[in-house]
Amino acid sequence: MSLTPDQQAEIETLRSTSVPTLRAVSEGMEAHLYKAYPVLDHGFVRVIDYMGDDAAICQAARVSYGKGTKSVQNDEGLIRYLMRHWHSTPFEMCEIKLHVKLPVFVARQWIRHRTANVNEYSARYSILDREFYIPQPEQLAAQSVINNQGRGEPLSAEASARVLEILKGDAARCYDHYEEMIGKEGEPDNLARELARMNLPANIYTQWYWKVDLHNLLHFLRLRADAHAQYEIRVYADEICKVVADWVPAAYSAFEDYRMGGATLSSKALDVVKRMLKGEDVTQESSGMSKGEWREFRTLLD
Ligand SMILES: Cc1cc2nc3c(=O)[nH]c(=O)nc-3n(C[C@H](O)[C@H](O)[C@H](O)COP(=O)(O)OP(=O)(O)OC[C@H]3O[C@@H](n4cnc5c(N)ncnc54)[C@H](O)[C@@H]3O)c2cc1C
Repeated sequence: MSLTPDQQAEIETLRSTSVPTLRAVSEGMEAHLYKAYPVLDHGFVRVIDYMGDDAAICQAARVSYGKGTKSVQNDEGLIRYLMRHWHSTPFEMCEIKLHVKLPVFVARQWIRHRTANVNEYSARYSILDREFYIPQPEQLAAQSVINNQGRGEPLSAEASARVLEILKGDAARCYDHYEEMIGKEGEPDNLARELARMNLPANIYTQWYWKVDLHNLLHFLRLRADAHAQYEIRVYADEICKVVADWVPAAYSAFEDYRMGGATLSSKALDVVKRMLKGEDVTQESSGMSKGEWREFRTLLD
């Protein structure tokens, strides 16, 4: 993770200063606040601010005048009920603001989640750092032959070495040209930063502040912490999952149970389950499902 000693000192200053507050505080989240957790080779994710806790979800659900929580068991039961029945607005009462440093190609996937507020580091105003995501050799795999959107078998050692050589060489050359086009301050014919950046590859790092409510964050995590998500965004989602588990433990546990670990069945699939429970040997042909649906359904059950 590329934090300078000055940046690290700023984080430590924030963590050593506290103020009394009347607001709800999540002890679990306080332990994470401001800390940068490394992701990939130069990236990180850190919590800048948050609002609410498990109790805030119950408080909103009960539209309470006071704290709005009852016993822990009662609150957990309510949160599970809300999650189970897609009663989502109480979860929107909690918010989180993250500072994320990530490769541009990961940012392009991330930004598709429109229900967040974003402010990105300006490459028109500032010069980007010479920092490129270079995968670990074990992440270099061939195009999957089953899934057009995924990786298959690992590359051979020779092929991996060649790919890494290409990635490093291209990054270095493009950044050298970027610097050359920007030139030195005060010199004539310096190309504007907003134009010079055109030359930079998609594995260069960018940074942003990303603010989202808990309902939409869980939606993001459901999609991006999933095995189908690309590894390079999944590792960020996995890191955020750890933070959310400490921030709102009851909501996270319900999310793990109903969303991450659970499954939605079509009416055809439900019918097949009922027939199987009655002892029928159902096949793809007799199920009424397509081959793809059947494969996914069998994977769920196996
Ligand atoms: C494994 C995977 C593969 C993907 N592959 C591709 C791909 O090949 N090409 C591609 O373009 N994208 C791809 N995506 C992106 C995907 O299609 C979604 O754009 C992305 O996951 C964001 O989801 P979302 O729209 O639900 O999230 P958000 O934008 O956060 O929206 C959350 C919810 O709010 C509602 N909403 C938000 N904005 C609107 C709106 N304007 N109109 C109506 N409802 C709205 C919807 O109900 C939506 O589900 C992929 C995503 C994943 C996880």
